[in-house]
Amino acid sequence: MLEILRVGTVAHVGVVTDWGPLVLPMVYGITDDTMYLHGALANSLLGAAADMDICATVTIVDGLVFAKTPFNHSMNYRSVVVRGRARLVTDKDEVLRSLQLMTDHVVPTWNVMRHPSPSDIRATRVVALSLDEMSAKVRTGGAVNDDEDESAPYWSGYVPLTARLGQPVSNDDAGDGIPTQVQNLVGQDIHARSHLDG
Ligand SMILES: Cc1cc2nc3c(=O)[nH]c(=O)nc-3n(C[C@H](O)[C@H](O)[C@H](O)COP(=O)(O)OP(=O)(O)OC[C@H]3O[C@@H](n4cnc5c(N)ncnc54)[C@H](O)[C@@H]3O)c2cc1C
Repeated sequence: MLEILRVGTVAHVGVVTDWGPLVLPMVYGITDDTMYLHGALANSLLGAAADMDICATVTIVDGLVFAKTPFNHSMNYRSVVVRGRARLVTDKDEVLRSLQLMTDHVVPTWNVMRHPSPSDIRATRVVALSLDEMSAKVRTGGAVNDDEDESAPYWSGYVPLTARLGQPVSNDDAGDGIPTQVQNLVGQDIHARSHLDG
């Protein structure tokens, strides 16, 4: 399960607010036992999440599965659902550590960027979610056709789907040189993370 969370990039975070349920996509970071989420102080979802039960779902779609009937179409995927009580992070060291985890989760760039200033940190809310209660589902391979469709003359199989990174596009105000960490991504699949480790 941790492996899926390590290679995922976006969590869909669900919270029951005073106005009803709300699910928003968010970047996250993890340790072996905690998921961290962050947002602006004004962020209504994280504001409502503190000390409440929330749910975070991470999904990686690995392929489209075509059966001989749409009834049996599917997708290949790796998915994790985490549920638990959201804890507002107030300890300054934990906030900073969590921001580094979230920054480095997708691409380790913390050490080649300006670190958050005290006012950046004051403007940020960080919420922690224990990984005690989580489940994973994984689907791989081709379609499962009904027995009566086996000899039907329709194609069936699957098409792999990846998330490959393209050429970096520099800002007008970019400093000299694209960081190696970013350059190394070109052509890589963000969800096959071994090349990003370390
Ligand atoms: C890939 C990805 C990663 C993101 N990572 C983060 C993150 O780490 N931290 C963070 O704070 N934000 C992140 N966002 C933005 C986040 O989804 C919210 O839009 C943002 O946090 C504002 O939330 P809010 O509760 O203040 O929304 P409000 O501005 O209060 O939302 C008002 C209404 O706008 C609509 N709305 C808000 N956000 C979205 C959305 N993303 N898509 C469609 N409708 C929306 C909803 O109907 C919502 O009820 C990310 C978005 C994406 C797509």
